[in-house]
Amino acid sequence: MAIWRNARCSVNRGPRKRRLALGALILGAAALVGCSGASNVADARQTPAPQPAPPASETGGFNGVRAWDYLKTIVDFGPRPPDTPNIRREQVYLVKQLESFGCAVSQDHFHAQTDLGNLAMDNIVAKIPGKSPDIVLLLSHYDTLRLAGFVGADDGGSSTALLLEVAHDMCGKPSPLTIWIAFVDGEEDQVNFANQQQAQTIWSDNNAEFGSRELAARMENSGELKNVKALLLADMIGDADLDITRDSNSTPWLEDLIWSTAKHLGYSQYFLSTTMSVDDDHMPFVRKGVASADVIDFDYPYWHTAEDTLDKCSPHSLAVVGHVFLATIQALDKKFAPPKKGKS
Ligand SMILES: [Zn+2]
Repeated sequence: MAIWRNARCSVNRGPRKRRLALGALILGAAALVGCSGASNVADARQTPAPQPAPPASETGGFNGVRAWDYLKTIVDFGPRPPDTPNIRREQVYLVKQLESFGCAVSQDHFHAQTDLGNLAMDNIVAKIPGKSPDIVLLLSHYDTLRLAGFVGADDGGSSTALLLEVAHDMCGKPSPLTIWIAFVDGEEDQVNFANQQQAQTIWSDNNAEFGSRELAARMENSGELKNVKALLLADMIGDADLDITRDSNSTPWLEDLIWSTAKHLGYSQYFLSTTMSVDDDHMPFVRKGVASADVIDFDYPYWHTAEDTLDKCSPHSLAVVGHVFLATIQALDKKFAPPKKGKS
């Protein structure tokens, strides 16, 4: 994930344990956001044991067991920074999986001018035709940070696995709205980080979010951007201790829809009412006027450390967020492509 700006230094709601955990994270992020105090975030709490995913029949058809298998495969590729052999293996895997689900897949190759030189990058987009040309765009980055030993189980891996399973569930089925599921490259800052302290503090807008900027620009040029009714970005949603906060850079009505959907499904303990301000892959679209929401759990002690590994994530968390994504898409169908009343 990108970086967290202007975080608020007070947190008023949520159960005590979570409030403390979030407070510890805010203190730990003091170097980023200018809050007073300092704390070793990773020492602040223990990650709970991963919980199994509920059956797909209880999560709107989202198969959390299968999503977890995708995540294991992705992590097994190892560190996956742009223009490396590992990310090329991941690209082949993503395209093969999406095609096996019956998705139409477009692969957009481009070159990005980064602080590390000119890098080959790839956006991979699965497209599900709808009765309406209006688009719901789902987005995740699939690259990982350039830090020794960093496999990005949560940061990069979890949201990629989530959207693979969403694609598995939706491809080949009729859809009221057109659905695009985009896996974007080059979200992380293109720096060879020497240590996690650097990786948690250095950020340059001009040296990151390459894939999302490319996709937004291409869609603007093609005229498709104006058809996007909603962008749902997933990032860092695999944390076994799931607590997703609202983002003040996201579009309020769309966040309201996601949060009310989560509440209706009984997931209010995971979708908190606290707000942060996050710079992430939704921003190139926000700047172009697209209604966008970043679904992110930034209360993750292992963010941008080599300890962001599978044991910190949970199939249950993938299933919860997957369920909310599928149900939110249905709510967007109702909002933008209501079924026409028959005359018979
Ligand atoms: Zn990151």
